[in-house]
Amino acid sequence: MADNQEILFLSDDSARMRVSIRLFATLRDRAGVDQTEIELPNGAHVADLLPALAAKYPLIEPGLSTAMVAINQEYAFPDDKINPGDEVALFPPVSGGSETEAPDHFAVTTEQLDLDAICSAITIPETGAVCVFSGAVRGSTSTQDGVRSTDHLYYEAYQPMAEKTLRQIALEIRRKFPGVQGVAIVQRIGELHVGETTILVACSAGHRNGGCFEGARYGIDRVKEIVPVWKKEFGSAGEEWVEGHYRPTPTDTGRDDKSKSAIQASNDGSEFFALACPECGESYDANFDGFKCHCGGALEFAKTPTFDRVLIDANRFDLWRYKRFLTPDTIGPITLGEGWTPMIETIHSGRPILLKLESMNPTGSFKDRGAAVLVSVLKAQDTPAVYDDSSGNAGAALAAYAARAGMQAKLYVPASAAPQKLAQIRVYGATLETVDGPRSEAAKAAEAAFDRGERVYASHIWNPFSVFAHRTIAYEIWEQLRGNAPHTIVVPLGHGSQLLGMAAGFEELLQAGLISQVPRLIGVQAAACAPIYESQQAQVASSELPTLAEGIRIIHPIRAKRVLQAITRSLGAIVAVDEQEIVGGIAALAHEGVLAEPTSAVVWAGLARVMSDIPEGAKIVLTITGSGQKTYGIDKLVAQHAVI
Ligand SMILES: [Zn+2]
Repeated sequence: MADNQEILFLSDDSARMRVSIRLFATLRDRAGVDQTEIELPNGAHVADLLPALAAKYPLIEPGLSTAMVAINQEYAFPDDKINPGDEVALFPPVSGGSETEAPDHFAVTTEQLDLDAICSAITIPETGAVCVFSGAVRGSTSTQDGVRSTDHLYYEAYQPMAEKTLRQIALEIRRKFPGVQGVAIVQRIGELHVGETTILVACSAGHRNGGCFEGARYGIDRVKEIVPVWKKEFGSAGEEWVEGHYRPTPTDTGRDDKSKSAIQASNDGSEFFALACPECGESYDANFDGFKCHCGGALEFAKTPTFDRVLIDANRFDLWRYKRFLTPDTIGPITLGEGWTPMIETIHSGRPILLKLESMNPTGSFKDRGAAVLVSVLKAQDTPAVYDDSSGNAGAALAAYAARAGMQAKLYVPASAAPQKLAQIRVYGATLETVDGPRSEAAKAAEAAFDRGERVYASHIWNPFSVFAHRTIAYEIWEQLRGNAPHTIVVPLGHGSQLLGMAAGFEELLQAGLISQVPRLIGVQAAACAPIYESQQAQVASSELPTLAEGIRIIHPIRAKRVLQAITRSLGAIVAVDEQEIVGGIAALAHEGVLAEPTSAVVWAGLARVMSDIPEGAKIVLTITGSGQKTYGIDKLVAQHAVI
């Protein structure tokens, strides 16, 4: 009865062991002892040892992330078991490469902040650049209700935890931007007056392209999310505590530092597809039966696999070249040969540019990427039927891949949808449910069907697989440019799933140290319906007027905030183009032999808006998201343009 023995064993108090540990070099200095004892449960692993040691010697913690562990004079790793009587040793990486320990400086203080002191604290002989973010008390703030003036602020902190989270942020910065050498984050607390410095976030690097700008930017964003510091504002509106909206999740604790690569070892999909809501922080397991968070937020995967170039399947020339970053090993692809689309050269305003022809995917649009991955996963779960709401490219993609997988598909479509688009969906064998009213009514019908128990709602909008799959466009562009990122990428912007996917893909490449910066992402909206563009211009009212670019006529983009963040992080921009410019784009592309649908053609005029900001010689990529073969009367549109 092995099971019983196990239970008895675990409930036995004597099932703990004392482990003797030797400490060397900086770790010994930090702990103040060269030998110590730690109590651990029998069967504990190396991964259990480090938190126990940090709890006993808090000062040692900053050194643990790079510490090496040896058991009985052999290197040991997080999953290795520790046995009673083992000789355990901890030490920093041995001298050989750089002997300099990465310098850090963290403080939560009532003292005035000294910029020079902070910069010199993180400058080592190898440092060539320091980038500092400095935050100050603002005296006047524009709000929807007019201008609010501030006299002074009072900052309060939960100090020990604040200092601990600052250290955690430094670890995150180093992981994301390996070129960063030193990190300093200093938060001032107490009473602060207008113009005084409240916070400094500084990163040093060997060179300005070593990630110091990005590290400082990431650092201040994270401080605003997870460091327990609050401010009370005193001014024209009286006095008021200012609270943020971010709610930290378990992934913010830094506790899972050591499980970073576990996702790639996981085979059953349970960890691969666990979900999290970035709005409220709620997490859901892979079997979650809803399509959105209870707070209304759009869910994302809690973790994405880490990009590693050696895991590319170099023998495949389609989307599944990147299978290791898309699905667990046990899932076989349902494929029509999607992905690995061509990238061709052309000329725009006298300058060479590249067109990524997503229109050459099997059903004529980039939506095939998300549909292929989602249907592959659902097929592996023996899903008999899927449904979605769409009248265009996403509907065609789901219908095609469902047909390929032998699954039933149903699409809720607006009764007014273009007949030729419906014909494509129908001929793949999908059922059409027509819904009166605008596009949003079809979405409501699909949600009502969900409430009635219809399954599986394979929403290309809510479902995180779309954004997830579009990461592969970034990988492909990087490979097609022989391991380089372009300077600028211009994409049509509706809900923003392609833009977010590309941003994620390039950020993974950056983290893997394969590119030095994420390309500038330029999102192009149709002026007739440009809610994200207008929100950035601080205009309140948005219109939902008809536009030729029907695929991006999205008045309520569900991930608008994340789209704005991704564009800002990339130093990109959002532009809006009018109907005349859209038709001009179709004509210009067609004259190069590229047939783009109006939704895709927005990128041509979009590039014209930002061209003067792009340095000569910089690589520019436009994505042609969908084929003009589906656009009825495209010849007449262009002829009309020629007359005008
Ligand atoms: Zn939520």
